[in-house]
Parts: sequence; structure tokens; C-alpha cells
Amino acid sequence: MSTIHSMPSNAFVDFKEVKSRVSILQVLERYDLTRTLKRSADRLSGPCPLHRGTNPTQFRVSASKNCWNCFGACGRGGNVIDFVSMREAVPFRDAALLLQEWFMPEKSALRVAESASFQSHRSSPPAGPPPVTPVAAASSSDDDGEAGENPPLSFELKSLKLDHPYPASRGLSAALVLDYGIGFCSKGCLRGYLAIPIRNREGKLVAYIGRWPGDPPEDKPKYKLPKGFKKSLEVFNLDRAAKEPGDHALLVVEGVFDCLRLVQLGYPRTVALLGSSLSKRQEALLCDAAGRGGQITLLFDADEAGRRGAADAAARLSRHCTVRNVDIGEFRHQPEHLEKQELEALHRNR
Ligand SMILES: [Zn+2]
Repeated sequence: MSTIHSMPSNAFVDFKEVKSRVSILQVLERYDLTRTLKRSADRLSGPCPLHRGTNPTQFRVSASKNCWNCFGACGRGGNVIDFVSMREAVPFRDAALLLQEWFMPEKSALRVAESASFQSHRSSPPAGPPPVTPVAAASSSDDDGEAGENPPLSFELKSLKLDHPYPASRGLSAALVLDYGIGFCSKGCLRGYLAIPIRNREGKLVAYIGRWPGDPPEDKPKYKLPKGFKKSLEVFNLDRAAKEPGDHALLVVEGVFDCLRLVQLGYPRTVALLGSSLSKRQEALLCDAAGRGGQITLLFDADEAGRRGAADAAARLSRHCTVRNVDIGEFRHQPEHLEKQELEALHRNR
């Protein structure tokens, strides 16, 4: 279930202001949905992106009224907040906070200090556009705020304890944990966390992300990202996966533990997006690794965010590669819990 854990529950949000300042076009643009909609004057129509309908006119948008309606399965409609609430499967208020964060940067400036940590990458919102004014965003280009690079770190954490029991409890072997350098950190900002090294496409260390070993206490986020680190610029394990022979599909999962588990099960060409949404940068990195016309298999979580993320990723990647979007729900909720035979069965059932 997708929840916005990073949002302070007492944060002030002016719904009226959000509705008047954020346009439905900006929101559709942000989800990269405008290309699936036909535009005539003030109106847009197309298949409904919320229930993923195929009827080409069921979903209708009025730019001037700043509202939308689905005349198909969801039968819903409303304003920009309603749309994000349904799309993200979060309460109305959390949706308004998200919109504020995405399109009204001055409102969320107070929370910048908190952005260094987040509850769970699985439920974090997709990486957003740079702070822009509504006018600029309405005519926005392809830039989704993922410019730049995560600079390589100038240090390595030397004192990590590499034999913590948590990775074993997730089914990872000691050898794999050692190979990937995942260790328990007893000092610094990741104190109490398992530090997971993140390397860029070239294999250079760009960050350590923290994972609390087990269920964190209330005051600790499950995952901790270093300040300034943009996870949308990286694909976990791509440096290694890209070196593997390309005669099998590149497997793409959401999380680090899913990825490591599949690597251990004999699928070294597996990478993780560090979340359920595919950024433009990640799209380019994956296509590059798969090669033109190469094969990509998506194994996302069997939940709403995963299915939505996978559908979007499949649509975009299939412009360059052969994409197979596997729903693992028949077997498990997350790829890391798949048994080897189940994985093989998923491979066979094409
Ligand atoms: Zn619908």
C-alpha cells in the first residue's frame, strides 16, 4: 500500500490554493500521460490511466475547468488533488501535500531538511520535475529534474560490520553480502542502519543508503538516503549486470533486496530501480544496457504501486526494447520471495 510516510501529519496545506495553482495538464505531464491523450482545443481525451482502460475516449479532461472524469470502470472524476490521490492511492490530504511539494516549491522549502530521509523507497513519490512555475510547467519539455550526476564519494566506510544477521534473514548468503559490501554501521549518520553501497553505471561508489535491519522504531525511517543523493539517477547493480553476457533478458526489479536475491538465485543480469517508478535517466540506462531491440523483463511488486510502475515502465521501454512485464502475483508479493522453481516457471510462461 502506498503511503506518504515522509509527510509530517501536521503540515499545513491549503487545498484551495493547490487546486487553483496546479493545473491538471501539469499533473498529466508529470506522469508522462499527455502523449496518450488526444487534444482538441481545451479538452483532452483518451484511455483512463487510473483504471488503465483501453477505451480511447473514456477519460476526459477539461483544461479550462481544471478537472477530469472517467466514464469507464472508475467512474470517478474531480480536481488535481483527486487525480493524484487516486493515482498514488493515498488520502486526499497526502495528495495535496505531494502536489505542493512538486509544483509549489516555496511551500515545501521548510521541509527540505527532512528530505534526506524517507520511510521507504517503495512508497516514495516518483522523482519530480525541478521547481517551476505553473506557466512554465504547462509547456514543459522532457526535462524531469534528473539532470546532473551523483558525484562519486571520496571515501569508503571502512568499519562496516559485514556479518550482521539481517541480510541472512532476507535469504542472502554471507558471500554475497561480503561481495556487495553491505554492512552494519555503528557510527555516523547511518548509525544503527545497514549501509548498502550504491555504485553508478561505471562502478564508482556514489552513495551508501541505509536500511534499518528489521522494523524500525517509530522515530526512524526504514530507509535513509544521504542528503543530495538522487536515486532517480542510478540503477542498482547495473555496473555488474551490464558486464554479463546479454543472451538473457535484463531483469528489472524495484528493490535492492529483490535484486540481490535474484542474483543469488543465478540471475546476475538483475538490476533494481530503488523504487517503483522509472525515471527518464533510468529508462536511458536500461535501454543502453539491454541494447537496441534487447530484452527486458520487469518483475515488480504485486501491489498497486508496482503494477502501475511496471505498466508505465513497459510502455516507455518497449519503444526501444522487447519488454516482458511479468505479474508475479500468482506466486508472491515481492520478487525476493520467489523460489527458484517459481522464477523458472515465470520464465517459461511466455
Ligand atoms: Zn477510469
